[in-house]
Amino acid sequence: MREFDYIIIGGGCAGLSLAYELDLYKKLENKTLAIVEPRKSYERDKTWSFWKVIDHNFEDCVIKNWKDFSINIPKKTKFIKCDKTPYQSINSGLFYKKITNKLRLNKNIQFFKNVNEINMENGFIFNSVSTANHSKNQLWQHFMGYEIETSKNFFDQEIFNLMDFNCEQKDAVHFFYTLPFSKTKALVETTWLSNLNKNELLNYEKQLKDYIANNLNIKKYKITYSEKGAIPLFQQKNIKRVNEIYIGSAGGMTRLSTGYTFLNIQEQSKYIRENIENIENIEIFKIDKKYDFLDNVFLNVLSNHPDKMPNIFFKLFETSPKTIINFLSNKSSFIEDLSIILKMPKLLFLKNLFR
Ligand SMILES: Cc1cc2nc3c(=O)[nH]c(=O)nc-3n(C[C@H](O)[C@H](O)[C@H](O)COP(=O)(O)OP(=O)(O)OC[C@H]3O[C@@H](n4cnc5c(N)ncnc54)[C@H](O)[C@@H]3O)c2cc1C
Repeated sequence: MREFDYIIIGGGCAGLSLAYELDLYKKLENKTLAIVEPRKSYERDKTWSFWKVIDHNFEDCVIKNWKDFSINIPKKTKFIKCDKTPYQSINSGLFYKKITNKLRLNKNIQFFKNVNEINMENGFIFNSVSTANHSKNQLWQHFMGYEIETSKNFFDQEIFNLMDFNCEQKDAVHFFYTLPFSKTKALVETTWLSNLNKNELLNYEKQLKDYIANNLNIKKYKITYSEKGAIPLFQQKNIKRVNEIYIGSAGGMTRLSTGYTFLNIQEQSKYIRENIENIENIEIFKIDKKYDFLDNVFLNVLSNHPDKMPNIFFKLFETSPKTIINFLSNKSSFIEDLSIILKMPKLLFLKNLFR
């Protein structure tokens, strides 16, 4: 069986981002890399969106940038500017194509379908295979989206809707999210923050069709693509063994209160590339601990008082756009954290501090 210097288990967002970063910075000229990925072919399966608070390698896979967004609760709408840090959407199909085309040119990189095909003993392993399971009654972000196309101009493509809480809540937190890519095309998602047991009962297709017909008032459209997912809102393994570290969602790169992961993966890949020569000895890359603490308190409130969350989310956006975007993107200063905390209902958060 073949031996490799580095082995990436899982060629998804984190595995491919890391391989691309290592290849781009010529860290694989004298080293070999195996990527173990079971999927038969790479197809578009996700739309990764985020506020662009740092530079990344995938500007050419961005399908849309927005400088404005809105958030709604019943009878109230807030409009927010994000021109300094535009919100970007990446088409995963373009991302997979760009990376696999580049990696296939490097003779030191080989793809495999199963770990049994290679010798795992002597290589350094970057593992992105998630161990999260639904049995623990933990919080998840569940969602399904339809990309729809209308025959007439319908959407305002200059502004996206981050959260629309004008919908049924069912003892959980529920909102819709709309990304208008053009006047005639948008991704509309129904999103639930809750445990799986509740969500097993939900009919995403019906929710999407009702919302498109009744809230967006679109009667005729084509569904051109759909995506479905569940992001664990609890920490997974982020341990370091002698010859293995976890990366991506499995390696703690998901921001617990929001599910945002893409840019954290890019920062983790950069950190690993910068330290690859000394990978056995370095500290693992982590999202700042203060966010784990603040997010856990926030998620305690969310679990115990889902009915209060639409107003709490709405209030979060009463701070300056820079403050809230920095906070949600793990780039906030102490003063910015404080101004967010001060916007929250204090008694409720204090009660949930030690639960
Ligand atoms: C539909 C969807 C939309 C999302 N949208 C956003 C967003 O807008 N913004 C954001 O920041 N985050 C988003 N996320 C969260 C996060 O960015 C993604 O989940 C991201 O793909 C995580 O990267 P990853 O490499 O950790 O996991 P994945 O991309 O899932 O990669 C894991 C890989 O491991 C492979 N694998 C599975 N089992 C094995 C095995 N036994 N051996 C080897 N390989 C295996 C899988 O096939 C997969 O390719 C989204 C998640 C989903 C599911």
